[in-house]
Amino acid sequence: MSIEVKNITKKYGNQIAVNNISFRVNAGEIVGFLGPNGAGKSTTMKIISCFNSAHSGEVLVNGNSVQKDPLKIKKQLGYLAENNPLYEEMYVKEFLLFVAKIHQLNNPQDAVDDVIGKVGLTPEKGKKIGQLSKGYQQRVGIAQAIIHDPDVLILDEPTSGLDPLQLDEIRTLIKTLGKNKTVLLSTHIMQEVESICDRIIVIKKGEIVADQGIKDDLNRSDEQVIVVEFDQEPKEEKLIAFLGEKTNIKKKGSSWVIASKENKDLRREIASFAKEHSLLILELKKESAKLEDLFKKLTK
Ligand code: ADP
Repeated sequence: MSIEVKNITKKYGNQIAVNNISFRVNAGEIVGFLGPNGAGKSTTMKIISCFNSAHSGEVLVNGNSVQKDPLKIKKQLGYLAENNPLYEEMYVKEFLLFVAKIHQLNNPQDAVDDVIGKVGLTPEKGKKIGQLSKGYQQRVGIAQAIIHDPDVLILDEPTSGLDPLQLDEIRTLIKTLGKNKTVLLSTHIMQEVESICDRIIVIKKGEIVADQGIKDDLNRSDEQVIVVEFDQEPKEEKLIAFLGEKTNIKKKGSSWVIASKENKDLRREIASFAKEHSLLILELKKESAKLEDLFKKLTK
């Protein structure tokens, strides 16, 4: 149940789409694959799913090589391609039966009934795919990806173009599926990454620029920022004099935003300042760096 990408490079003509990248997705992880448009996400996902080949490097899925054992991998891997290509003229049940037969499942009809229930397609199962809403079409895309009960799921922008309610439903579905599968999913939505993923891998211009856990300290290389509100306005010069030059102090509404250039948590100093100047602290909090800011910084 793992994906190992080792030094893969892919070129389209003279253009390098993916440049010598390596990463690993461990069994049971849900990993968000992020990057601006054109960074190389879809290309990488196609290579892992055996729908495209790399010029150099190696990809192993559950220990099997994409070059040597693509059929073995396709049995163990589910892939939702970018823009969810579907046969709109086919009926939901007909399409899923077609996919089940391609996978040569023992009881294709049972697999169809089972997956329809799993992805919540029951009310729409008798319709043509083209008649479904975007949210339900996305469920059909996910259904075709999981009908053969793969261990590994590659989902390329599974929630693009969904409304907020559909978004919630599809995220919950992915989270449920992720409980016993290894998932790599690409998305642009940071909230999604925070709510679904264990880890992020960020790619920019074909190169990996970050690979870290969601709960890792995002402040690592940043200034620590404290927001404080006093019951009365202190003089800015006094604050600066007390906290020293290695801080950036800004007034924001009724609060002060105080950043330490030395990555120091200044809450104790601020509390001492308040005591010395007989001020009451109404609010004192450490601002946490946001994943969105990290993404912007990395991909600028
Ligand atoms: P992402 O999924 O991150 O948006 P892609 O993997 O789709 O990025 O694309 C990476 C780069 O490779 C882009 O510059 C894109 O234009 C180029 N590219 C992707 N597919 C093809 C193709 N079939 N032919 C030529 N260039 C391509």
